[in-house]
Parts: sequence; C-alpha cells; structure tokens
Amino acid sequence: MINIAIDGPVGAGKSSVARECAKRLGIIYVDTGAMYRACALFCIRSGIEIKPENEQKIAELLNDKLDLQIELVDGVQHVIVNGEDVSDKIREHGIGMAASAVSALPAVRAYLLGRQRDIAAHNSVIMDGRDIGTVVLPNADFKIFITARPEVRAKRRYDELKAKGSDITLGEVLVDVNKRDYNDTHRKEAPLVQAEDAILLDTSELDFEQTVSGVTELIEQLGKL
Ligand code: C5P
Repeated sequence: MINIAIDGPVGAGKSSVARECAKRLGIIYVDTGAMYRACALFCIRSGIEIKPENEQKIAELLNDKLDLQIELVDGVQHVIVNGEDVSDKIREHGIGMAASAVSALPAVRAYLLGRQRDIAAHNSVIMDGRDIGTVVLPNADFKIFITARPEVRAKRRYDELKAKGSDITLGEVLVDVNKRDYNDTHRKEAPLVQAEDAILLDTSELDFEQTVSGVTELIEQLGKL
C-alpha cells in the first residue's frame, strides 16, 4: 500500500499529472476537488445559498439528502450524486467558485474528510486536492506541491474550458483563478499551504510528459510498489 498526496493551486496541472501517474503506476487516482464540486452542485440544485450563515443547513442537507458515490470506470473517476453521473456537470465554470465557497465551511470539510481517508486506507492512491498532505493524509508516503505562475495556470484552465465549448475569455479565467487561490489560501479551515515535508514542483516551464515522468520516477524510487 502506498499513499501519495498532491496539492497545489487551481490549474497547476495536479489532476492531469496525478491521473497519468496513477495510470502508469497501476494505482488509484482520487480527485478530492470533484467531491467539493459535487457538494456545491447539490447545494445549488437544492436552492440553498452557499454562505457561512447556512453552514448548519448545508451540513444537514449533505448528511440527510446527498448520496455521493465515487466510482472508478477503467481507472477514471466518476462522481455520482443521488444516482446521476455528474462528472461533466461539475466541471462547468461556475461550479469551481461554488466549490471554493462550500469548501470553506468546516462542516463540509468534516463530511468529506472521513470518506477521503477511508479510500486511502483501503487502496494505494494518488490523491489530489488542497489539504491532502497537511490534513487528509499527513502520513502520506510521498507529498508533492505542484504549482505554476498564475498566467500559465489561467491559460491551461482556459484551454480546457474552450475545448469543452465554453465562451469564457482568458481574462475572466485569470480573475477566477486568482480569486479561488485567494479564498483557498486564506480560509481558516485547512487552507491551501505546502506541507513542510512536500516537494515543490513548479511546472511553468515543464511540459506534461516531463512532469509525469519526473513524478512517476520519484514515486518508483520509494520502492513501495
Ligand atoms: O481541484 P478543483 O479545482 O476541482 O477544486 C475545486 C475547489 O474545491 C477548490 O477551489 C477548493 O476550494 C476546494 N478543494 C478543497 N480541498 C481539496 C480539494 C478541493 O478545499 N482537498
């Protein structure tokens, strides 16, 4: 069993790197951002405004009404909300900001923490998010903090959204990236911060293959697979 923690800001390339490394290493990739996105989507659909004053209401909603399932189909994570596969829906632009707001609520973090730890306790995983190395898996075998310059991250995010048919502008994406980073690093509960024992990887000048093979090699060198 091996647990790898990958954290970093919006658009640093965590998910694509983690997904590909997990594939090459034959272990499971867990995208915790998708869980926060699913909670945000569920609040929106339930008509509850995501704000601190509604924390109790949101906690009750998640505990009583949300059936959140994470399924792996051919190594790809699918997020199922009350029987509906919302994997594409949660990637829509507005959901990122809503996820950032919902993730600042301690009750929501507590709701997901147990599930995330449980998956890692029973599987060899690469888990990505904002607080994996610091809070979810403090004893992970290996921790990486992946980052890149904000303009590079905004461009990557923009290309992804464009490819899905969005008509958003690069400027709008940059504003969103900076705002989400600010929220995520300044919240009280489990803020985004590099764990002391995490390796820092700046991918601004690296291409995808260089990043993936570098990270895969480092994990293989642990000799735990
Ligand atoms: O990674 P992704 O951009 O999909 O995450 C959406 C939002 O969920 C982030 O902006 C962050 O606020 C929140 N998140 C978090 N902790 C995690 C993963 C995501 O707070 N472990």
